[in-house]
Amino acid sequence: MWVVGNWKMNTSLEDAVRLASDVARAVGAGDDPVSVGMCPPAIWLEAVSERVRASSVWVGAQNVHPGASGAFTGELAVPMLQDIGCTAVIVGHSERRQLFGETSAFVAQKVRAALAGELVPILCVGETLNEREAGDAERVVLDQLDASLDGVSDVQSGQLVIAYEPVWAIGTGRTATPEQAQAMHGAIRLHLTSRLPGVHVPLLYGGSVKPANAAELFRQPDIDGGLIGGASLDADSFVALVEAARASV
Ligand code: PEP
Repeated sequence: MWVVGNWKMNTSLEDAVRLASDVARAVGAGDDPVSVGMCPPAIWLEAVSERVRASSVWVGAQNVHPGASGAFTGELAVPMLQDIGCTAVIVGHSERRQLFGETSAFVAQKVRAALAGELVPILCVGETLNEREAGDAERVVLDQLDASLDGVSDVQSGQLVIAYEPVWAIGTGRTATPEQAQAMHGAIRLHLTSRLPGVHVPLLYGGSVKPANAAELFRQPDIDGGLIGGASLDADSFVALVEAARASV
């Protein structure tokens, strides 16, 4: 199971360090059936890495540029993220797709760059409310998946993570029902079985996951954990989600 926090553009340095320390202390350093990660704003990555170093918690970035270096003002490259201790990166989050115009072709470049640099891409896909209401959710998500994985073939189990995040459930307090989430995860799993045969790809659900709804979501056979926005900003909530994931193993 996986529980990954996406802090988005939140926290001061003081908040970030306190949140990271509180979570790291609660999660501990032992063998854990749950892979716990946090993705703070890039500017706090180094400070957060420092705070979680003695625990099993890992640190990821929220975005990356596909280039290794060069004239890309404001961007960060895979080797830079690795230098400060990141082991994973969120790519293709719906906020990046919708607010910053990222296409699936560009997202695929990021996925390939992350894989080549041994940074685990957490690739986000998800449909809008209109697409779901039009009965198009599965087609949209699988098309997005294919386009965002363009050129990706040589992957081993655990090197790639997918997060299904219905856009209408992100930050809205409206969660996909466990049945809706399982149905989409099942479709993604089946699709990946033919695309990447023999490779186990953890499938995370994201969209208003909180302690009150996590257990039922995590119990679904094709849900391998959660990508958590709002509830990852509070140490108690986030740790409760880690506990829910542990209990579901
Ligand atoms: C997210 O943005 O990745 C997310 C899942 O947010 P929230 O949990 O706040 O809906």
